[in-house]
Amino acid sequence: MTPVRTIAILAVLAATAAAADGDTRIAKWKDDKAAAIILMFDDSCVSHVKNVVPELGKRGLTGTFYINQGSGQYAANRQAWEKDIPAAGFELANHTLTHKGGATVADVTREITAANEAIRAATPAMKWPRLVSWGQPGGIKKEMWPISKDELAAVLKDNHLVTRPDFGGRGASIAFKKGADYVAHVDKAIKAGTMECIIYHGVGGDWLAAGMPEFIELADALVARKDAVWVTGHIPAHQYATERDSAKVAVGAKDAAKISLTLSTAADPAFYDQPLTLVTQVPAAWKACTVTQGKRSAEVAVDAGAVRYDALPGAEPIVITRK
Ligand SMILES: [Zn+2]
Repeated sequence: MTPVRTIAILAVLAATAAAADGDTRIAKWKDDKAAAIILMFDDSCVSHVKNVVPELGKRGLTGTFYINQGSGQYAANRQAWEKDIPAAGFELANHTLTHKGGATVADVTREITAANEAIRAATPAMKWPRLVSWGQPGGIKKEMWPISKDELAAVLKDNHLVTRPDFGGRGASIAFKKGADYVAHVDKAIKAGTMECIIYHGVGGDWLAAGMPEFIELADALVARKDAVWVTGHIPAHQYATERDSAKVAVGAKDAAKISLTLSTAADPAFYDQPLTLVTQVPAAWKACTVTQGKRSAEVAVDAGAVRYDALPGAEPIVITRK
């Protein structure tokens, strides 16, 4: 027997010994993908409506848009920002009302709260209050951002705003130039198992513009890597990671026909209601299962002795039944 073959057999034996029925792993990212990637688009650019939304939409991809409801370019596409884009499932995020800051703390606070209210109005089907992503506008003169770090933190907290990762190293047309630079950033996230974002301004037009061919190259690369990458919005990824980091699974009753589990997390269920993906070992004879949690139910095929499914932490018990 070759050494490689011996190692392979030992690995299988070790895996078999470790896996008991009901053993459950919480996937690092939704659907057990290796990484989460978030495409972010700042300033409600006209090129986002014209170029980005159609190209993402036809590939089944999504993105997070940091809009300024008081800007001219927003007004030029009001219908798209307030109806079509949120209705198509793209995430709207807070980038302040006008991007201009304000002369007083009260003015800056109003810039932030008014943008949040406008996001609420554009997404009437979504619950409120809820978490909203925050991207602080750049390039503002110091005197037009008089709010202290602590004062800002309080405003963000009051409005359930979640600060996105830093611009540094993530700016399209700054940190990345060629199509291959963007794709390498994605591959790095896959390798490291992390959440990463790419922050765009114009795409094929407007300012700090990334080229259209490079954008298409990235979009196609994300589709080609769909088994490894969860392309999502900032808030779903933030919710998933936060819930996951304190999540615990407890195996309850199990017999020849079913396995019961509970999933809990320390995250506040009022704001953290993103299902987590679980992978549970089931008896070797099971070929398909029904997974139920409260009123939700899904038929799941058994793959390599395990079932993969979504469950909401802190909710009702999960019951996996042999089909
Ligand atoms: Zn901006």
